[in-house]
Amino acid sequence: MAFLTEQDKQYVTPEDICAHVGDEYGKFMGAIVPPIFQNSLFVRPTDVNGVTQTEYAYTRVSNPTIDIAERKIAALEGGDGALCFSSGMGAISSAIMHFVSANCHVVLVATSYGCTLNFIKNYLHNKFGVTYTLVHGNSVEEIEQAIQPNTKLIYLESPSSLVFHMQDLEKIAALAKPRGIGTVIDNTYATPLHQQPLKHGIDISCHTASKYMGGHSDIVAGALIANREIIQSISSNERELLGNNMDPHQAWLLIRGLRTLPVRLKHHGESARKVAEFLENHPKVEKVFYPGSKTYDQPELYNKYLTGGNGLMSFVPKGTTEQVQAFVRSLHYFQNGCSWGGFESLAVTVGIDDDARAFGQPENLVRIHVGLEDVDTLIADLEQGLSKIPD
Ligand SMILES: *Cc1c(COP(=O)(O)O)cnc(C)c1O
Repeated sequence: MAFLTEQDKQYVTPEDICAHVGDEYGKFMGAIVPPIFQNSLFVRPTDVNGVTQTEYAYTRVSNPTIDIAERKIAALEGGDGALCFSSGMGAISSAIMHFVSANCHVVLVATSYGCTLNFIKNYLHNKFGVTYTLVHGNSVEEIEQAIQPNTKLIYLESPSSLVFHMQDLEKIAALAKPRGIGTVIDNTYATPLHQQPLKHGIDISCHTASKYMGGHSDIVAGALIANREIIQSISSNERELLGNNMDPHQAWLLIRGLRTLPVRLKHHGESARKVAEFLENHPKVEKVFYPGSKTYDQPELYNKYLTGGNGLMSFVPKGTTEQVQAFVRSLHYFQNGCSWGGFESLAVTVGIDDDARAFGQPENLVRIHVGLEDVDTLIADLEQGLSKIPD
């Protein structure tokens, strides 16, 4: 559990925060990169130069390496503090558990991440009687109508990560607050760089750090950002009791990833804009889903909330399901895999169920991640694949 220090608050821009929040060269013998405190236990009290140190006790609660990652993330999102977790699902399930109780009701954006939907629709529903109403999320009236007397949580994912639906965070927070309903968002798509939900009144912003924040496809990790009271409560309840804390080595890799997040995102975003434009103009492509592109259907929300794009998008190629699957297999640079946010380009066909269909996910959706390779190489790869789809 780490809160921002006065020193951390001197850094304002994302670039400076990523590079320098948490630097304490004096404490770490001048090391430019902080050490990995690969220890479970901190003995207490420790006398250092006559001063009793009681800050750390046990790594399930806090650890100096993990603290640095948490302070960078809190500074980027403008929260009092942050908590790191062993995975994105660790952060998301803890944030949800903070607000729900047995037999309560949740308003849930229907196009949220699959495991999140599974957690609420199946796990919490079957074991604890939690009920839910699925919403598209594109109108505040729809969300207001879904609220019931026992609603404890409105769960958002904006933009969502398959069809990139956005929700009006400010208006939804204004709806929830006076009714005592908690608000949680999965902010993974935007990263802490491109959207700061707490500034719009959302209670908890969650991330998987396995995607852009880690950035190298070498860690599974998560984080959440909130005010002091919520951070303290989740630290000593959901995280300490469920034990889904981050490991110090994971934190060290996350810190390394965060240092280059601004430059990586810039490159991913520039390349992806070109790829989206290429796809939008391609005769073998039916529809493109990419926030901020010419055909994106929620430009007002994009302009209100997001300050940049990234490499993730989806599109519907023309053709049968078999032809679309063959197209994905024919790509050389886009490996067939379902994660995203690393250096590598990926392509995957997206499965669909009745709920997803009802809330606007089309058949034969292909999601791609535009990696850090040369963009012209990637466009040529897509072109050779699309050209093989029969007319
Ligand atoms: C991958 C992902 C998650 C889950 O994160 P893990 O680190 O794999 O647990 C949650 N939300 C979104 C949007 C994701 O893409």
